[in-house]
Amino acid sequence: MELINGKEIAAQIKMEIAEEVQKLREERGRPPHLAALLVGNDPASETYVANKEKSCAEVGMLSSVYKMPENITEEELLKTINFINNDDEIDGLIVQLPLPRHINTSKVIAAVCPQKDVDGFHPVNVGRMVLGQPTYLPATPMGISMLLEKTNIDTEGKHCVVVGRSNIVGTPVSILLSRNAKNANCTVTLCHGKTRNLSEICKTADILIVAVGQCEMITGQYIKEGATVIDVGMHRISDPSKKSGYSLKGDVKFDEVAPLCKYITPVPGGVGPMTIAGLIINTLKAYKKLIEN
Ligand code: NDP
Repeated sequence: MELINGKEIAAQIKMEIAEEVQKLREERGRPPHLAALLVGNDPASETYVANKEKSCAEVGMLSSVYKMPENITEEELLKTINFINNDDEIDGLIVQLPLPRHINTSKVIAAVCPQKDVDGFHPVNVGRMVLGQPTYLPATPMGISMLLEKTNIDTEGKHCVVVGRSNIVGTPVSILLSRNAKNANCTVTLCHGKTRNLSEICKTADILIVAVGQCEMITGQYIKEGATVIDVGMHRISDPSKKSGYSLKGDVKFDEVAPLCKYITPVPGGVGPMTIAGLIINTLKAYKKLIEN
């Protein structure tokens, strides 16, 4: 079994980006600038946004966080998005999800100008991804694809089973890996809450990608010996022995599954750091104005 070290791969990617940013900021007179909209006080969302800010600083990018109260109206939120859309000094804009229930998330995502949509969630960018056109790929699926590439895992003709069909992970990663492209060309099966015989299907996977949102649900009985397992899951479990008061677990029962695999991602240190690397790549693309409106 070999661990896929997402932390190390992401650090390498960020180092290369930092060099490019340094050159470009001299030519252009300002660094790339990412804006994040954070609504409410959800501790997990606050941590994700803080990590994104930290990574921006590491590569020499500027970041601004627009912190909004939980009870902000949809209208006010849309106004702020419009304001950022029109600010030429801001290259990328992300809206940290989930939003409070009284706000229509689809409407908010559609309000971000596609050129600044570095999360790749806008319908225009999703459409471009499906068609294989230049776009901002959503960060987690892009991160998974880069992990497979940098670890030299052969994907062509392999059976890839994706568990979970969310718009931000499962569905886009299933599309990316099924495309006729380098580091793709998998035969993909997309599983979800209504799938029958899930463990039998997973057991046929050469590459198993798990984004199910259920802590340690995938046990040894879901795994074909020698498979590659990518665990997207992220769960905070109370742990008084840790300084933070919690430890992180994935959707995969690591201790049981790892000995059966050829490659596996750990949690933390697997997909998480690659998601942030994906966002940084997209912010650089936005700054270089590589994606049309
Ligand atoms: P969602 O909750 O949006 O989607 C979960 C999916 O899993 C749904 O499609 C659901 O099916 C399916 N599902 C749930 N239970 C079962 C089950 N028992 N059997 C089969 N399918 C099931 O999750 P996300 O995609 O947003 O996130 C998944 C996990 O990844 C979470 O733990 C999240 O925290 C983590 N995450 C980590 C990131 C990172 O950077 N590391 C980034 C994003 C997410 P149905 O559609 O039928 O309801």
